[in-house]
Amino acid sequence: MSLPVVLVHGGATKFKKESHDDVLKAVERAAEVGFCVLERGGSGLDSAEATIRSLESTTLFTAGLGAEPNLDGEIELDAIVMDGNRLESGAVMAVQNTVHPISLARYVLERTPNAQIAGSGADKLYRKMIQEGYREESTAGRPTGPRISEGCDTVGCIVVDANGYLVAASSTSGWGGMLPGRVGDTPVIGSGVYANEIAAACSTGRGEQILRIVMSRIAVHYVEDGFSVTEAVQKTMRVLREKTTGEAGLIMADSQGNVSLGFDTPHMPVALHGEAGLVYSSLTPDDFPSTT
Ligand code: ASP
Repeated sequence: MSLPVVLVHGGATKFKKESHDDVLKAVERAAEVGFCVLERGGSGLDSAEATIRSLESTTLFTAGLGAEPNLDGEIELDAIVMDGNRLESGAVMAVQNTVHPISLARYVLERTPNAQIAGSGADKLYRKMIQEGYREESTAGRPTGPRISEGCDTVGCIVVDANGYLVAASSTSGWGGMLPGRVGDTPVIGSGVYANEIAAACSTGRGEQILRIVMSRIAVHYVEDGFSVTEAVQKTMRVLREKTTGEAGLIMADSQGNVSLGFDTPHMPVALHGEAGLVYSSLTPDDFPSTT
C-alpha cells in the first residue's frame, strides 16, 4: 500500500451488539484523525498520539475516558509510544490522574532520559507536564454506565509516514477488577508494541499471555528474518496458540506500508486509512486486505 498509512485497532475482545456501530465509527474516526495530522505536516509521533487520543476521548474502550476500575475501585492507566526509527519508546504504567496517558508516554519519550515511569512517579510527572504546558489538562468526566464489552478493549495504532518511518502506540486501563498495581503487556516494550526501521507490531488481548511470548517483538523479528508481515502475523498467531491460552490479536505494518493482522477473539475492530481515504474497517476483520 502506498505511504503514508494509519492502521488502528480497538482491542481483541467481544463487544455487545448495541455498541458495534459506535465502536466501528470510533476506530474509523481515529484513523482519519491520525491521517489528517500527517497530511497537515505532522510527524508519525504526532499522528499516533492524535489517533490514540481520539480513541481515549470516547467512552467506548477500556482506555482513557472509558477506563475500568481495578479491584479497589481505582483507575490505573498504561500507555506506550515507540518511535521505530530512533528505536526509542516512552511508557507510563498505573498512572491515575489523567485521561490521556498516551500524551504522558510521549512526554517520557521526548522530555526525560527514561523509557518507563510507573505509579506515583508517573502521577508526579503528569503534574509537571501540565505545568510546563506540554499538553492541556482534560476536564471531561468519566462515564458510569454499564460496560459495552465482555472483555478488555485496549486501543492501539501503527503509523507509517511518507518516509516509511514507523510509530506504534497503545493505551489501556487493563482488565476491570484487576489487582491494584497490575501491569499487563500494553506498556511493556516488545510485548504491547514494538517498532524499528523495518516493521512495527501492536498487540492486544490477554496481557499475561502476550507477555509470555513477547508478542510484538517476535512479530517484528520475523520480518527482520525475511518474512512478509502477513507471514509474520501467521507465525506469531501460531506461537500464541501453541504456547499460551491465547485470546489476543495484533496489527502489523512494515516500512513499505504493507499491513496485516491476526486475532483469535470474536472481535477486533480495525480501520485502515491511506491516501485513497478509509481503505478498510471492520469489527471482525477476517477479510482484511493484508499485503505482503
Ligand atoms: N492487553 C491488555 C492488558 O492485558 C488488554 C487489552 O489489550 O485489551 O492489559
